Amino acid sequence: REAAIGQRWPLARGAAPARGAAILAVRHHRGGGGGALHAADRRDGDELGPLARLLRPGPRCREPLELGRGARAGENAGGGRDDPFEARGGPDAALAENLRRDILDASPSVRWDDIAGLVDAKRLLEEAVVLPLWMPEYFRGIRRPWKGVLMFGPPGTGKTMLAKAVATECGTTFFNISSSTLASKYRGESERMVRILFDLARHHAPSTIFIDEIDSLCTSRGASGEHEASRRVKSEFLVQIDGCSAVDDAHDDDDENGGGSGAKKVMVLAATNFPWDIDEALRRRLEKRIYIPLPDAEARNALVNINVRGVEVAPDVDFDALARRTEGYSGDDITNVCRDAAMNGMRRKIVGKRPEEIRAMSKEEVAAPITMEDMNEALKRIQPSVAREDVERHLEWLAEFGST
Ligand code: ADP
Repeated sequence: REAAIGQRWPLARGAAPARGAAILAVRHHRGGGGGALHAADRRDGDELGPLARLLRPGPRCREPLELGRGARAGENAGGGRDDPFEARGGPDAALAENLRRDILDASPSVRWDDIAGLVDAKRLLEEAVVLPLWMPEYFRGIRRPWKGVLMFGPPGTGKTMLAKAVATECGTTFFNISSSTLASKYRGESERMVRILFDLARHHAPSTIFIDEIDSLCTSRGASGEHEASRRVKSEFLVQIDGCSAVDDAHDDDDENGGGSGAKKVMVLAATNFPWDIDEALRRRLEKRIYIPLPDAEARNALVNINVRGVEVAPDVDFDALARRTEGYSGDDITNVCRDAAMNGMRRKIVGKRPEEIRAMSKEEVAAPITMEDMNEALKRIQPSVAREDVERHLEWLAEFGST
């Protein structure tokens, strides 16, 4: 049988497992997409609502899909953290395994306090991403959560950190994917990866999918074959984002009848340093667009403080002066300056020494507090990495397409 995405599909008589958390294994035959999949949680009585959404037999798949019973109700209770693709074999299992290894970050452990400045961005993210997960009942109808959130701004300003903090602060599973991970030379594999990514995210829900460098999904430059492939990946991506919110709408309906959870379970968060490369279709899905600017003086002061946490600092280090001198530096640049300055003490101590002498030195002998002189030297060596024109271009885009 063929099933389309979202189609409700009555179970064959006799194949219905007990209500509740049951695993249904589905195998596609030759020419089919998919492979082994299951629905871990059925709330639709005798209909295969969630499963039907996962079923995507290819055009040549004419043979019947096999329905079999996997683990019994209860074995997978509590939204089981095990993987739907695990132990099922097949190409999807291998892809899922790769994705899980590369991109699943169960505990990113970045907190809001680790991020200097960006007060507005933190507030906006809290409102757009964290609160809907915490108070799903409130965020419905006109208050329904955004389909996707885009963070844009110059490189090294803390976009990845913010995404990780979102995942840490709301305790969601964090999928950290860069568009280059999705690039595959095999035809059709990239789209499958996108699909599996969202399936995994739904399985591990609540989860946050963070897509770095999302602009590279859209670039249509290069050879014609490349263009075609990236177009297909992008459209799969659009389908999946729409699918996430369609699931929520469906749950909303369920709720009116007393069932379902109504919560948005998969949050899509994207980042780019080149927002102007994002085309209209994708931009429309990323409804909330938040500018992550270069740090202001206060944030730069905080950045230096965060970076020298845990190392000794000489009393002559003037944080306000450093904040003034680092105008135009990104958070990443400031981290580099501090790292360089922190090494200066050691450089002074080992200069002119032979390797065996250096090896004989104890940690205490090498250690020296960071001085203002170290900082100044590092500042001379490390220049800001973001060009002024780049910032201006971001501000123009913000004025035209920003939504904060
Ligand atoms: P982006 O994703 O915007 O390119 P990242 O989030 O990867 O930038 O930041 C790179 C590095 O710069 C971080 O690992 C961190 O050390 C530093 N950094 C940048 N912005 C901040 C910030 N606001 N607070 C603390 N550290 C920051």
